[in-house]
Amino acid sequence: MSTRDYIEKDYYKALGVAKDASQADIKKAYRKLARKYHPDANTADAKAEERFKEVSEAYDVISDASKRKEYDEARTLFGAGGFRVPSGPGRGAGGAGGNATFDLNDLLGQMGQRGGGGGTGGGGGLGDLLGGLFGGGGRGGGRSAQVPRKGTDLEAELTLGFADSVEGVTSPLRLTMPAPCTTCMGTGAKPGTTPRVCPECSGTGHVSRGAGGGFAFDEPCRECRGQGLIIDDPCPTCAGTGRSFSERSLTVRIPPGVRDGQRIRIKGKGGAGERGGPAGDLVVTVHVGRHPIFGRTGDNLTVTVPVTFPEAALGATIPVPTLNGTPVSFKVPPGTPGGRTMRVRGKGVPRKDGTRGDLLVTLEVAVPQKLSGKAKDALETFAAQASEDPRERLREAAGSA
Ligand SMILES: [Zn+2]
Ligand SMILES: [Zn+2]
Repeated sequence: MSTRDYIEKDYYKALGVAKDASQADIKKAYRKLARKYHPDANTADAKAEERFKEVSEAYDVISDASKRKEYDEARTLFGAGGFRVPSGPGRGAGGAGGNATFDLNDLLGQMGQRGGGGGTGGGGGLGDLLGGLFGGGGRGGGRSAQVPRKGTDLEAELTLGFADSVEGVTSPLRLTMPAPCTTCMGTGAKPGTTPRVCPECSGTGHVSRGAGGGFAFDEPCRECRGQGLIIDDPCPTCAGTGRSFSERSLTVRIPPGVRDGQRIRIKGKGGAGERGGPAGDLVVTVHVGRHPIFGRTGDNLTVTVPVTFPEAALGATIPVPTLNGTPVSFKVPPGTPGGRTMRVRGKGVPRKDGTRGDLLVTLEVAVPQKLSGKAKDALETFAAQASEDPRERLREAAGSA
């Protein structure tokens, strides 16, 4: 049930009972109507089905003491305030409108309670009333209600250097948060005025357009751009959007080992809670930049290290770079083929348990691009002496196939 339903629908009229009807009378009226309009007794009668839904909805609200109280309050408030609900069938006249000051916050406080637990409140509330004027974000606080509500979760993005993503970092973050405009309390209407329910769509935000053959399209109302409300005098501060943005700088601690695209939830750094509720969380989506020499697979870091032919053939101890800048000594065994990947334990990405992944070193045999006379002579001597034919297996395999 939305707030708009509460404003527009006269549930007492739907059940044909008085506003002060007893629960017994309400039940009796409902039973009678439900029997009359039940789909089983009215096959293929669209009107009866519509009435049946109406009756069920009305009964659902006014048979429940707390829902009924909210409903009565909502309608009293709207009747006394500036929302000029157009009269029409199925809609009550509401209270005889005096010129009482309409306090949106008080109203929202009451409506907001229906949201129940959980910050975003599925049913009712300001977002619903104003047709999503605030986007998903901020919602006006209520002064009169007592139910604490957790603040909204905020989203942010952060781009980290590769090394920072591996080792963790404390980074400043500037947040731009949508907030209700303080001049108009988020209504978008100039102070002293109130938005009115759109007469074109009766506040539903959409209209039905007949397309012939009994079909109809439901489309957003053009008059109010789907908002359900029309603002005659826009608020000068927010130009009628009801929204403003507030900037906040904070410092976030990014744990070691985050990956590109990972979302990190930072508790309590989101929107402020309402009525003593806890603050929402900040959800940071992390983007990780590339490193010129290191890569990452899982908890391991990867690096490709060139070795000379003699180093690969004879074996050698070579320095291998690590991410923290201190090279480690790495033993290349004699006869290491090019492309072999070897492991330096514990020089990878930190894990939650305090251990680290490994550094995977891929050896790439470098071929000399320039040879001095003596080096060339030595290589030619080597070639003449070497007995191993690297293509022997290739030839054998080709011949046998
Ligand atoms: Zn404003
Ligand atoms: Zn409209």
